[in-house]
This record gives sequence, structure tokens and C-alpha cells, in this order.
Amino acid sequence: MNTVVLVPPKKDALLELVSAAEALERRIAAVVPDPSWAQGYVDEIYRIPGDISNDKLVAALAGMNDVDVFLMYSDRNGKEIAARLGAKLGTSCYNDCTSIDKNLEIERMAYGGKGVARILIKARPAVISLKPKAYKPKESSNRRSEVRDLPIPEVEERCLLKNVEEKELGAVDLTKAERIVSVGRGLKRKEDLEMIEKLARLLNAAVGCSRPIAADLKWLPEGHHVGMTGVQVSPKLYMAIGISGQIQHTIGFRNAEIVVAVNIDKGAPIFEEADYGVVGDLYQIVPEMIKQLKEMKEG
Ligand SMILES: Cc1cc2nc3c(=O)[nH]c(=O)nc-3n(C[C@H](O)[C@H](O)[C@H](O)COP(=O)(O)OP(=O)(O)OC[C@H]3O[C@@H](n4cnc5c(N)ncnc54)[C@H](O)[C@@H]3O)c2cc1C
Repeated sequence: MNTVVLVPPKKDALLELVSAAEALERRIAAVVPDPSWAQGYVDEIYRIPGDISNDKLVAALAGMNDVDVFLMYSDRNGKEIAARLGAKLGTSCYNDCTSIDKNLEIERMAYGGKGVARILIKARPAVISLKPKAYKPKESSNRRSEVRDLPIPEVEERCLLKNVEEKELGAVDLTKAERIVSVGRGLKRKEDLEMIEKLARLLNAAVGCSRPIAADLKWLPEGHHVGMTGVQVSPKLYMAIGISGQIQHTIGFRNAEIVVAVNIDKGAPIFEEADYGVVGDLYQIVPEMIKQLKEMKEG
């Protein structure tokens, strides 16, 4: 009972799961449609068909021997697989975990993001899904990976995925951005986004926002909103302009290296998260930043 089995939806996700799995100090196996994703990163690779249904995958995983931990990626499908596998094995399932250690002590958000629960999992095998971006992708590794086919049992398929249409989230992929200038409801008019975009261009940054800007006001597409229900980002620089700093937002940039906040209210909670804080009206501060950056660029 000494193996952690990774079940990722794609290669990037696998590399995050590998980083987490290494902390568990167990043998690492990966269940993947394409062995090249995992070659060199894990001890055993179990190949599965690319179009396998969740019914078959869950049955195949449940049939694996000597597994201590199943580690999924907590996107929607990963959580479904984890829940079904936990039920099938009669064990506990913990979704959306943000950290895990070798004793199987996990952390995950509690009370809608207002707290963090730390849980010691005693059940074996344990079924756990890890939140995207909770771990940095493993950059390189030199394990000897044995490849074999995972036996797939004949099971009755109760539902089949027909197709997935990608939702239009906007042009940016904030998860990959090194710098993000994010704006909140401190902005009074949609037209004023132009000023934020100008600042972002000068900093070579992507534009992000709080949820109301995307979900309620629809000033930016959904893919721009950072936080618990939006994207989780890990840039080198995160600038929060006119954003109050509610936990549902700040949890989205927990892994940012440097946080700069601009807010008119010196008591705004965002300043508790910021490395640098500017108390002031964004309508004065942002144009001044633009002016100074332009001057710096023009030498
Ligand atoms: C279940 C749930 C999930 C959620 N998920 C998310 C999420 O993923 N992401 C997210 O962002 N939110 C999320 N929210 C909403 C979240 O709780 C906050 O309501 C939201 O983040 C607030 O957005 P905001 O800071 O832009 O607006 P506000 O809270 O209205 O703050 C605006 C800020 O701008 C400042 N300001 C005003 N005028 C100026 C000015 N001229 N210059 C400078 N500063 C100024 C104010 O002082 C204030 O601090 C969620 C809520 C729930 C209940």
C-alpha cells in the first residue's frame, strides 16, 4: 500500500500533481492516455484509451492494487471521478485541496473561503483532488518510468460525454501571466478601463478584475475575473486597483510574488495582502503611474 496514483486531464496538470506527489514520499504512478506526458516523472505509467468513459475509468482505478492515495486534478471532471471512486471504494474523498503532506494531512478552504480546514486523512486508499495551481509544475525529473496498459473492465456505461464546447472566456490566459493589473468596483465607468489597459500595456501586464466587473457589470469577459469562482493566478506582480480585498478575491492571487494595492480607503482589507500599498484615488494615482512609466520608458 505504498503508491500514489495520479489521474490528470492533461500534461500541465500532471506536472502539478507530480510536485504534490513527491512530498508524499511514495512510489508514483500515473494513469494517462499519452505516456509521453509522464515519461521520466513517475515510476509507473498506466496507459488508458483517450476516449475512456468515466464509468470505465472509475472501475479500472478501483481495480488497481496496492494504492495508498489517488490524486486527481480538481477540475469539474476530476472531482466527479474522485467522488465516484471514493464511493466505489467505500473510502473518503477530499476535493479542492490546496496542500497535502506525507501523513496525508490536507488543507482546503472552509466557510466559503473565510477559513482554511486542516484535515488528517486516515482512510486508505485516500481519494484526493488538488486545486489547479496549488503546486508549481515539476520542471524536470529523471525517474525510470515503466509503461503498461491499465486493464479496463467491461462495465455498463450509464452516461457518455458527447462533446465539450469551449466557452469564450476572452483572449487572456491569466494563469500564465507574469504581471497582472486587476481592477475592481472602484472604477466608475466602463470607458475608464482604457486607463487601466494603458497602465497594463506599459507594464507588459494582462488585465484582470474582481468578480463584479466581469460577472455583474460585464465590462470584461469571464476569463478575467480572479478569485474563488474565477481564475487562480500566480504572477510575479499582482496590482489590485480599486478592489476591496474580500477573501473570495484574494484567495485567487495567494501565490503572487509581489502585490501592490491602490485604494482610497486606508482600512480596505486589500492592504493586509499587499507588499506595497497606495492610499488614494485611482483616478489620480493611475494617470500618475502612467505618466511616470512613460517618462521612464522614454528615458
Ligand atoms: C460564493 C462567492 C464567491 C465569490 N467569488 C469571487 C471571486 O472569485 N472573485 C471576486 O473578485 N469576488 C468574488 N466574490 C465577491 C466578493 O465577495 C466581493 O464582493 C468582490 O470581490 C468585491 O469586488 P470589488 O472589490 O471590486 O468591489 P467592492 O467590494 O465594492 O470594493 C471596491 C473598492 O474600491 C475602492 N474604491 C472606490 N473608489 C475608489 C477610487 N476612486 N480609488 C481607489 N479605490 C476606490 C473602495 O474603497 C473599495 O475598497 C464572491 C462572493 C461570493 C459570495
